[in-house]
Amino acid sequence: MNTITDTAAAQATATAAAAAAAPRGAEAAGFRDELLAAGILIDTGENGLYGRSQVFEDVVERLNVAITHLGADQQPEVLRFPPAMRRTDFEDSEYLKSFPDLAGTIHSFCGNDSGHQRLLRALDNAMAESDDDRSEEWMSQQKPTRLVLTPAACYPIYPVIARRGPLPANGRTVDVLSYCFRHEPSLDPARMQMFRQREYVRLGSPEQVMAFRQMWIERGSALVSLLDLPVDVDLANDPFFGRGGKIIADSQRAQALKFELLIPVANPNGKTACLSFNYHMEHFGEIWKIECEDGSVAHTGCVGFGMERITLALFRHHGLDVNLWPDEVRALLWGDTHARIAHALAGDSA
Ligand code: ZN
Repeated sequence: MNTITDTAAAQATATAAAAAAAPRGAEAAGFRDELLAAGILIDTGENGLYGRSQVFEDVVERLNVAITHLGADQQPEVLRFPPAMRRTDFEDSEYLKSFPDLAGTIHSFCGNDSGHQRLLRALDNAMAESDDDRSEEWMSQQKPTRLVLTPAACYPIYPVIARRGPLPANGRTVDVLSYCFRHEPSLDPARMQMFRQREYVRLGSPEQVMAFRQMWIERGSALVSLLDLPVDVDLANDPFFGRGGKIIADSQRAQALKFELLIPVANPNGKTACLSFNYHMEHFGEIWKIECEDGSVAHTGCVGFGMERITLALFRHHGLDVNLWPDEVRALLWGDTHARIAHALAGDSA
């Protein structure tokens, strides 16, 4: 429900001609190659799976601190989970209804001694081949475990909050951060298969959740302005799967459930969603029986910060050498972060 997606909506006819001349993704791959050559990201040989250098992680961590200051007055409950969730909770979430192609499940060898011997023989055969020609036969004895990879940072919290009983009168606000998995290998470095989402999640009445989302559209935009990046917030939809997906996406747009903050990152002809602002209505509340204090079904919403995407946008717009970034941006990230965020928030409410 809070998938951060690229938008192709901005692709006009004029740019389509340019895109036809150079294959789509070529420009994005160019930016990826620059990042790899500079050692900012580290190649693993797999599209969408990268190592992070010290300088990249430093930016991610400082952004994370800025986001903490940005939400501190909401007194969120901080919860951190490993990047996996219970398979039964994942099944209940209905993620597979909407995004079966993006999900990652975790399998493990569950055979006996003779099965192990078969596995090793199959593995020997596979390893005799080149990487691309290897047989998958050794995986025939892999069985699903009780865990799946986390698809979005907020998913693990709903069943946990539900088990506590009805929400307090003010509802709850939760702060989460997790690596997430999406099976969508791409040459675009802003479309990774494993990446971090920092989220604030609101659970409460429809009014509380709508007010939360509006506040975060403003605060998210303020942060992006402080980072000296262009701000463009637009209505959006998630990439729902299949023929029925188009109808669900249209309905999501018609109800204005999702907004994204879009920044040009790798692909000059398109923009990448770096933040998303989502209203799930009673979807998760109904699934996990989350109740408000008055017994009504809780509504939920979340703001998601794509940590790698915002970091990549900074490298794209301010250059690959962080020492040469604009003074104001450097001061925000490596200087008086707290004071600068407080000042921006004060300006917001003035
Ligand atoms: Zn979320």
